[in-house]
Amino acid sequence: MTAQTHKKAKALKPTSQRPAKALCSECGLCDTYYVHYVKEACAFINQQISTLEEQTHGRSRDLDAPDDVYFGVHQSMMAARKTEPIEGAQWTGMVSSIAIEMLNRGMVEGVVCVQNTKEDRFGPMPVIARTPEDILAARVNKPTLSPNLSVLEQIEQSGMKRLLVIGVGCQIQALRAVEKELGLEKLYVLGTPCVDNVTRAGLQKFLDTTSRSPSTVVYYEFMQDFKVHFKHEDGSTETVPFFGLKTNQLKDVFAPSCMSCFDYVNSLADLVVGYMGAPFGWQWTVVRNDTGQEMLNLIADQIETQPVNSVGDRHQAVQQSIPAYDKGVTLPMWAAKLMGVFIERIGPKGLEYARFSIDSHFTRNYLYVKRNYPEKLEAHVPAFAKKIVSQYKLPQ
Ligand code: FAD
Ligand code: SF4
Repeated sequence: MTAQTHKKAKALKPTSQRPAKALCSECGLCDTYYVHYVKEACAFINQQISTLEEQTHGRSRDLDAPDDVYFGVHQSMMAARKTEPIEGAQWTGMVSSIAIEMLNRGMVEGVVCVQNTKEDRFGPMPVIARTPEDILAARVNKPTLSPNLSVLEQIEQSGMKRLLVIGVGCQIQALRAVEKELGLEKLYVLGTPCVDNVTRAGLQKFLDTTSRSPSTVVYYEFMQDFKVHFKHEDGSTETVPFFGLKTNQLKDVFAPSCMSCFDYVNSLADLVVGYMGAPFGWQWTVVRNDTGQEMLNLIADQIETQPVNSVGDRHQAVQQSIPAYDKGVTLPMWAAKLMGVFIERIGPKGLEYARFSIDSHFTRNYLYVKRNYPEKLEAHVPAFAKKIVSQYKLPQ
C-alpha cells in the first residue's frame, strides 16, 4: 500500500457498518480509518494465515509436522507459571508481567490491552497503557468480544514508535495485515488462545444458565479438568462439568465469528500464553519466533517451567462429542459429574488435551461454516484446519 493510499485511508470516516456482517468479531479495525483496508485485513473476509505467518515468522506451518499443524509455527513450547502469581490475574499473570517489564525497561512506549468499563466488570474498554498500573488494571479476561484495535488511530497520532499489542487471534490477524501502515519501528505481539467468545448479551445468557449466582462471578475459565470454574466475589469457587452444560440453550450463544474461527492458537503472535497444553495451574507457553523469546526472557527470573507432556488418545472422545453437540444433548447433572470424573481419570492430558479442544472446536466450526456459509468454506478454512477435520466423520 502506498503513502497516497494511506493518506486517503486517513481521510475516511469509520462507519457503523461491518463488512464482515454477521461474522464480525468486533475487533475494532472498522472503528478507525484503517477500515480502508478491511477487505484485505479482516480475518472473516480474507483468511490469509499462511501468508501472514510467512511475513511474521519467516515461514508458514509445515503441514507434514504434526505439532506445526496443531499449534502453529513455533521455536519452543513449555508449561510455565509465576512463582508469585499476580492477584486477580486470569491465571498466574504472565501476560501482565511481560507487558510491565517491557514498559519498565523502555522497550515499548505503550501497550494495547483491555480494561473494563466503570459500570461493568466484564465490559471491555481497550486502552493504550503507559504505566504498570494501567496494565494491571487490564488483567483478567473480559470474556466478551472486545474492539481492541479501536485504539489504532491513537498510536499514529501519538507518534509512538515502539508498541506491544496484547490480543486474541482475530484482532492479531487484522493487526498483522495493517502492521506496515502503523508507522512503528517495532511491534511486539503477545497473544492468548481464544475460543467460544460471546457478545456481552451472550455472556449474560451463559452466566444466567450456568452459574448459581451470575451477578457475583468475577472470573471463569473452561479448565483442563473438563469443568467450568467460576470464581465469585466472596472468593468461593463453583465448578460445573462441561457435559452438564445446557447445550440446547447455549448452542446459539457463541458469536458467529467464533463459530467460524480456525485461529484458536493465535498463529500470528510472537509469543502465546494460554493454559490448555499445560498441567492444571500452569500456563501453556508457545514461543513462535526470536521476538517472542526476547519477550519471555524478560520474566525468566519470575517463573518456573517444565516441559510439556502429552497423555491419552483424544480421537474417540472427539468423534463421540460431534453428534452429541450437534443434537444439543444435555446430560442430567449426576451423569455429567460421573462422566467428568471418568474422563478426568482416563482422558487426554497436556498437549493431548489441547488437541482434544482444537479438534472439537474445528469440527464444530467446519460444520457451522459448511451449513451457513457454504460459498466461503473453501477459502475460509485454512489448510491445517482441513487436515485436522479430515480425521473425523462428520454429519451432513
Ligand atoms: P493476565 O495477566 O490476567 O492478563 C490478561 C490479558 O488479556 C490482559 O492483558 C487483557 O488485556 C487481555 N484480554 C482480556 N480480555 C480480552 C479480550 N476479550 N480480548 C483480547 N484481550 C483480552 N487459553 C487457552 O489455553 N484456551 C482457551 O480456550 C482460551 N480461551 C480464551 C478466551 C478468551 C476470550 C480470552 C481473552 C483468553 C482465552 N485464553 C485461553 C487465554 C487464557 O484464559 C489467559 O488469558 C492467558 O493464559 C493469560 O493469563 P494471564 O494470567 O497471564 O493473564
Ligand atoms: Fe471490521 Fe474487525 Fe468486524 Fe472484520 S471483524 S468487519 S475487521 S470490526
